[in-house]
Amino acid sequence: MTATTPRVAVVTGGARGIGAATARRLAADGHAVAVLDLREEQAAQTAAHIVSDGGRALAVGVDVADAAAVEAAVTRVRDEVGAPTILVNNAGILRDNLLFKMSEDDWDSVISVHLRGAFLMTRAVQAHMVEARWGRVVNLSSTSALGNRGQANYSAAKAGIQGFTKTLAIELGKFGITANAVAPGVVATDMIRETAERVGVSFEDFLAGMAKDVPVGRVGQPEDIAAAVAFFCSEEAGFVSGQVLYVAGGPRA
Ligand code: NAD
Repeated sequence: MTATTPRVAVVTGGARGIGAATARRLAADGHAVAVLDLREEQAAQTAAHIVSDGGRALAVGVDVADAAAVEAAVTRVRDEVGAPTILVNNAGILRDNLLFKMSEDDWDSVISVHLRGAFLMTRAVQAHMVEARWGRVVNLSSTSALGNRGQANYSAAKAGIQGFTKTLAIELGKFGITANAVAPGVVATDMIRETAERVGVSFEDFLAGMAKDVPVGRVGQPEDIAAAVAFFCSEEAGFVSGQVLYVAGGPRA
């Protein structure tokens, strides 16, 4: 086993769900964690959990699609916690609709948060990684990248994330920086709870229905995804770059 060198990690969308579990996992692995989210109060709760468990954390309210806000947030992380060299681009939204009903705003907002957000965050943080000659970027894709009814916007964004990740790996590798993507299947979070509400099914029934199509017979938990992210962030994953790992209880959920 390689000992963990403590780093400063940034997790976007860390207020809840997969992002919150990832922030807690990276803190448990010995890193200081900046929890970035639109929902500043909930981000502060994630940070408070980490601190009460003996870790170091900072919550920062930010819209990842806003270039000036992203620059300010990363500067604040550098000043208050240290230069970040781990970045998890996890912030995301859904605006599901069949193509013929999909508005321009549904399209633009999903592309903006996932793709523009990951681009802006990575551009801001890579400067610190290059300086350190070490870095880990992990981007959240999805099984929806392979196509999913009602998600033209989201599947385009999540497929785009995969191309973005591979290009980061190629451009940044010479600085000791790896870039990988984790592509979850269905994970029990508020994002899915809201989808269940939208289609008028209870959260429990929705998850049970989804689990039937998953080879391991259950949906994912946020910690399942956090574990995969943590592997890509580890010292020992330094020769793994440009990969997409489907974490879906089977080849795809
Ligand atoms: P979630 O909705 O529970 O959490 C997403 C977080 O992102 C929220 O706290 C939200 O406030 C934040 N966020 C949204 N827009 C933002 C913005 N512009 N700036 C900053 N923060 C913003 O979602 P989740 O289920 O935990 O999903 C996390 C990631 O994993 C997303 O990228 C999602 O697309 C992806 N994913 C989720 C699933 C799933 O089944 N839950 C499956 C595949 C991929």
